[in-house]
Amino acid sequence: MSYERSIVHMDLDTFFVSCERLLDSRLNGKPVLIGGTSDRGVVASCSYEARRFGIHSAMPMRLAKQLCPEAIILRGNSGVYTKFSQNVTEVIKEAVPLYEKTSVDEFYIDLTGMDKFFGCHKLASELRQRIIKETGLPISFGLSINKTVSKIATGEAKPNNEIRILSGTEKPFLAPLSVKKIPMVGNVTYKALCDLGVKRIKTVQEMPMELMHRVLGQNGLSIWKKANGIDNSPVVQYHERKSISTERTFNKDTTDVAKLKGIIIAMAENLAYQLRRGNKLTACVTFKIRYSDFQTYTQQQRIPYSAMDHTIIPVVLDLYRKLYNRRLLVRLIGVKFSHLVEGGHQINLFEDNEKQLHLSEAIDKMRERYGDRAVINAAGMEAKSISRWNPFTGEPPPLLANRRQ
Ligand SMILES: [Mg+2]
Repeated sequence: MSYERSIVHMDLDTFFVSCERLLDSRLNGKPVLIGGTSDRGVVASCSYEARRFGIHSAMPMRLAKQLCPEAIILRGNSGVYTKFSQNVTEVIKEAVPLYEKTSVDEFYIDLTGMDKFFGCHKLASELRQRIIKETGLPISFGLSINKTVSKIATGEAKPNNEIRILSGTEKPFLAPLSVKKIPMVGNVTYKALCDLGVKRIKTVQEMPMELMHRVLGQNGLSIWKKANGIDNSPVVQYHERKSISTERTFNKDTTDVAKLKGIIIAMAENLAYQLRRGNKLTACVTFKIRYSDFQTYTQQQRIPYSAMDHTIIPVVLDLYRKLYNRRLLVRLIGVKFSHLVEGGHQINLFEDNEKQLHLSEAIDKMRERYGDRAVINAAGMEAKSISRWNPFTGEPPPLLANRRQ
């Protein structure tokens, strides 16, 4: 490969806290926690002042309060954060030809080829300054030849700074860092690596690729590549999607309520999973029903931002109960989630139930590995597969096995 890429990773610093500080400057310089405020809540974001007490995001709020009783705790407002996130996106969109938005506060920018005219580092620095000036939010970036190295570099640059990793120095840059800094290494993988005696990225670099493969499977192979600064994944142009939906037309019009309910749950569950995979949340649920006489009815319900089965499915079922009131055969049912925003994982942390969050994460991991239908709600067992399609990658949806029109 002869050409070299220039990839920037930008990440807003303690994003939710920074937004709150713009709205209330009295929060400046203080330990601030944002997240679920009940006893079972989880920290979604915390200021650097709070981190000094050993607090980190995803920690139970109860524990965080014990570590720092004087911390200011805020419930969080995803609507406000979405607005600030859009402001940042606008500045980036104006300045660069190709960018990807991976969460409410994270962006990849492909500046390949721009160096001939401007110098990528200068361009990225100027963009960062413009974001800070125009939105008031602190942001950091890493610049390198690929996404993984740049993301890790951003982590090293923080808070409110920038780092450039010169081409050819990726391995020595990564070598002294903890393997935990590799984006895909979570707690479970970290523990597995520690059990192997692997703590620093350098150790992975010195291991034969085959060994990592043998011990940790496909995951090990990816970790080995990242540890060695290898990552060919492209920056995928971001398009804002406002809604996702799915419909089912029955082969035979039906009044089988058990079957209807099962399919509705499966549809809602699948769409919610797609939301989480795309790092999105919905604030509006719509249900649609068409009877055998072709009369179609829809009803919608606004909800607090969510991508969680246990908050969304009851709303869908409730709409179904309200709408299904004619004594006629049903021809079609549909579910739509709209008013979508980014920031799935972090904003899900506002939900006050730690147990549900962990359950949901575990289920999604199994789905990633074994397919969408590996784990489903028992009530939805009857329904056929909806799809493995990810609506946020820009790919067209697959055709569903509906009856021919
Ligand atoms: Mg961030």
